[in-house]
Amino acid sequence: MTNHVSQDYYYPNKMGRIVLQATEEILGRNGINAVLNLAKLIPLINNYPPNNLDLGFSFSKLGSLQSSLENVYGSRGGRGLALRSGRACFKYGLREFGTMLGITDITFRLLPLNTKLKVGASIFADTFNKYTDQRVRLEEEEKRFLWHIDRCPVCWDRHSDEPVCHLAVGILEEALFWVSGGKHFNVEEVLCIAKGDLTCTIVIDKQPIE
Ligand SMILES: [Zn+2]
Repeated sequence: MTNHVSQDYYYPNKMGRIVLQATEEILGRNGINAVLNLAKLIPLINNYPPNNLDLGFSFSKLGSLQSSLENVYGSRGGRGLALRSGRACFKYGLREFGTMLGITDITFRLLPLNTKLKVGASIFADTFNKYTDQRVRLEEEEKRFLWHIDRCPVCWDRHSDEPVCHLAVGILEEALFWVSGGKHFNVEEVLCIAKGDLTCTIVIDKQPIE
């Protein structure tokens, strides 16, 4: 498998649409238009991808959108907005994918918390692996899960001294909140391809924050 510079990978249109809708919910219409404009993604302004599973939304678009967020709002401001957009993404995503994945079934909801986290995380990882070019591996330790993204759209073509995949962190935070019926967990990106690591790795504590 080569990772040639000119090669691009894709999310299905539906997921690109979800990211844009969620970001718009957080930034407002003018905010997202400014971000898309600066990201040189002008064709997407008021023209989001169609709601289908065709692989039409490139990783480079998602990476540009995220870096433009920091250019418009500053790195601190952009980071907070990316986290909130990620949380909103999960909400939209659940509406689109939830029934299909079985995670809205009563049988899933009644599982013990730890099992639910494990089953939920692995279904979630499978969803990315099956429907997108993003590659996710789940690793389990005694006290935490490691969410390894081997091919990551969020920091695609980005370079930074700090981890930058805040959108992915926000999505996981909201997924955990939903799966646990309202608990908060410590979620932190410890490795990031944008800073030269081999993976983007997000650590999730199994124990919720008291
Ligand atoms: Zn990343």
